Amino acid sequence: MMDLVLPDKVHDESRQGEALVLEQPVTGKNNGRKLYIESYGCAMNFSDSEIVASILAEQGFETTGDHNMADVIFINTCSIRENAETRVRNRLKEFAITKVKNPGLVVGVLGCMAERLKSKFLEEEKLVDVVVGPDAYRDLPNLIDQVDSGQKAVNVLLSREETYADISPVRLNSNGINAFVSIMRGCDNMCSFCVVPFTRGRERSRDPQSIVAECTDLFDKGYREVTLLGQNVDSYKWKKSSESGVLSSELEAQTDQKVSSTGPNLGVADAPVTNFANLLEMVALINPDLRVRFSTSHPKDITDEVLYTIAKYDNICNYIHLPVQSGNTRILDLMNRTYDRDWYINRIDAIRRIIGDCAISTDVITGFCTETDEEHADTVSMMDYVKYDFAYMFKYSERPGTLAAKRYADDIPEEVKQKRLTEIVAKQQEYSYYRAQARIGKIEKVLIEGFSKKSKNDYCGRSDQNAMVIFPVADNYKPGQYVNVLIERTTTATLIGQVIPQTP
Ligand code: SAM
Ligand code: SF4
Repeated sequence: MMDLVLPDKVHDESRQGEALVLEQPVTGKNNGRKLYIESYGCAMNFSDSEIVASILAEQGFETTGDHNMADVIFINTCSIRENAETRVRNRLKEFAITKVKNPGLVVGVLGCMAERLKSKFLEEEKLVDVVVGPDAYRDLPNLIDQVDSGQKAVNVLLSREETYADISPVRLNSNGINAFVSIMRGCDNMCSFCVVPFTRGRERSRDPQSIVAECTDLFDKGYREVTLLGQNVDSYKWKKSSESGVLSSELEAQTDQKVSSTGPNLGVADAPVTNFANLLEMVALINPDLRVRFSTSHPKDITDEVLYTIAKYDNICNYIHLPVQSGNTRILDLMNRTYDRDWYINRIDAIRRIIGDCAISTDVITGFCTETDEEHADTVSMMDYVKYDFAYMFKYSERPGTLAAKRYADDIPEEVKQKRLTEIVAKQQEYSYYRAQARIGKIEKVLIEGFSKKSKNDYCGRSDQNAMVIFPVADNYKPGQYVNVLIERTTTATLIGQVIPQTP
């Protein structure tokens, strides 16, 4: 269903279903019980699993990577496309067999599938003991107690406030170098194809001070890259609470204004309203050696102020994921994306003008309701215009309850959706290769992440533009350090080269 031209950390297909394990227990407590947690979907879900593990670590749970050893099995689920749900359902059936052998085992469904499928899982299919929505993780200890006392337990309430700001997540399967940090939850956009606003609730931003504190703590622990996560990071907005002084609407209007081409305001930490550009700056200022990435940007909301902030700080990476979904204005309108083709092109031009050497990736949906061949050709021509570095491409999958499911027939035949998908995947491969080849002869600053997947003789790491770079291992550098790599050759999307000495 989905095709990735280059997996990155935010949309990593290879991590789907990964069991997340914490190597060391975080608290002195140990209740003798083990948690197995498996995650699906986007990076937000993987980040949520860290919050879940943190809440349960406080109760004395250890994590295990072997579900046969577990006392509690959780699957953190994704509803974005039908195949994501099918995968989870099959996995639950396997765990039901484990449960027959171990009747004391608690099996639970967390995350996006919770609300829609709670009765089905709990009552009809009797696959699970507990169902917990993405805003109810603080309730997990109580819910597990309820199951221990012989009842089924459910909490799928969505909240307008919950951001888990005060929960310092434990890091699962961490390399100790990159970490995800959630800066907001939910989504207030109503893209007609998308289930997220229904499964994850209203958009709310997290207190910037708690974000900066978490990133500072990560840096102090040796992490060198944070990825700030939200469904639409550009609409991040935090207003100081009344204890710190109520805002006058005049002042509020001033602070909401877009900043001119001279760049963002300074003194952002004290500003009464923190927007995404301000937050980026606050995190960038923690330390120049801390790389800052973010995802996802929304074409309707990404401002020049954000672009100037990226350009201003070397440690804010020159990489923007800007999902286009379609290159055709009529389809964008049906999708309720609230921008048109010209607006999107204007944002691409602004990125090229303000940041210059910035990698851009995208998401595309093929075969959305009523899409004609000519309209699909507009998506192809958008790819020709932007020449994306990477892309995540999907066939449209109708999701129950969404605006598109209610209003429009899913009328594009499967083989047409597939043909269009195949076409754009091939096109993207060309452009990923083109972008990679353009780096040959250039020197990339790479943060070493570890050994390459294929050989212990090579290290791998990412360039500022988020390309994977491979180069030989040597004694004078190690994971967590930055090196300059001269690029000598490439595959479709991986750069290969040699480390060159740092210039003083
Ligand atoms: N908030 C992000 C944005 O607006 O760009 C995207 C979030 S969504 C988790 C990731 C991607 O999944 C979307 O950009 C879209 O391309 C794809 N997607 C969402 N709903 C889909 C559906 N019903 N069928 C196919 N792809 C879908
Ligand atoms: Fe879904 Fe649109 Fe929100 Fe992204 S911005 S999560 S696609 S509703």
